[in-house]
Amino acid sequence: MVSRHITDPSCTDPGSLEYLLDFVPRVGHAEVSAAQPPYTRRKSTASPKSNTYLGARGQRLATKYPHARNAPTRGVLLRIHHLNCGTLRPPSPRLVNGTGSLFGRGKCVCHCLLIETDAHLVLVDTGIGNNDIANPAKTLGAEFVWGVHPDLDPDETAIRQIQRLGYTAGDVRHIVVTHLDIDHTGGLPDFPHATVHVNTDELAAARGPLTFMERRRYAGASWAHGPKWAEHRAEGDQWFGFRSVRDLPGLPAEILLVPLDGHTRGHTGIAIDTGATSGPRWLLHAGDSYDHHNQLAADPSCPLGLAAFQYALQSNRSNRLHNVERLRELATTGTVDIFCAHDPADFDRFSPLLPAKGIESVALR
Ligand SMILES: [Zn+2]
Repeated sequence: MVSRHITDPSCTDPGSLEYLLDFVPRVGHAEVSAAQPPYTRRKSTASPKSNTYLGARGQRLATKYPHARNAPTRGVLLRIHHLNCGTLRPPSPRLVNGTGSLFGRGKCVCHCLLIETDAHLVLVDTGIGNNDIANPAKTLGAEFVWGVHPDLDPDETAIRQIQRLGYTAGDVRHIVVTHLDIDHTGGLPDFPHATVHVNTDELAAARGPLTFMERRRYAGASWAHGPKWAEHRAEGDQWFGFRSVRDLPGLPAEILLVPLDGHTRGHTGIAIDTGATSGPRWLLHAGDSYDHHNQLAADPSCPLGLAAFQYALQSNRSNRLHNVERLRELATTGTVDIFCAHDPADFDRFSPLLPAKGIESVALR
């Protein structure tokens, strides 16, 4: 398998970090190479009913997931962009980031992924959206706005960053969410036609909150527009000892759900097989399973403010701690590059892939 990580010189978006991937063809996948341009702004002309690309397996999936029946193709993975879709500034750099003053404001990001395939765009989490910026008290809630002080910068929204890359909201056909907290779903209304992939337990928690915390966190403003949900339940598939969901309808086979509950009832990581032959082959967006990179270190630690935040928002303490432990173990294998949603240090780890201008922009976000 051939793979390489390079920075695409055509990328003009200073806020994105990206991989360009080539894949040796696998079963059901067309061959692509670095020289092949992305599908840029070109819609698929495949007939929705002539889904020969998926073959027999695809037909079975289409029966299991009727909403995806019209998906023309799963697409072939081409590029992965790392986007910060919302800078948050909670109190105290030392208590949040582990360094600096006890006073003033710390910094967190909303680390999302934009995945280009040859057929469509896939977004992993959405961060803060336009509705949140227009009316933060209503959608994010006064407590969130007061507590974490989001920048509410329209340029950081996923839709704006995607437009800067030359795409439109309609190009985003699929969104995969780690969970349904507001800081991960605020951008959903900006992509009303996308299918939203979610862990079944998470959607059940949002639809039928059982605890005081669940009633508060799932206010529902992010999905009042009625998105097309695609629910997934982890069954037998294993991924490095974790349960997983493979073959998400409409998505490249390289994208998996890896349930990591504890922060919320149906919280899930998103794993992506980049095919890399040097360095970690897999990416794992671990969402809010942990919040600070030192939690996965051999001698783990966590700034006090973040530890309190994790404790206050957890749905299941023992599962959360168990999953952090398993992630720590997984990190030692060197096979999976794990990052969480809100740690700016995790986000900046990808900055060496950027040109100098981009690094500077990322540092500012
Ligand atoms: Zn979060």
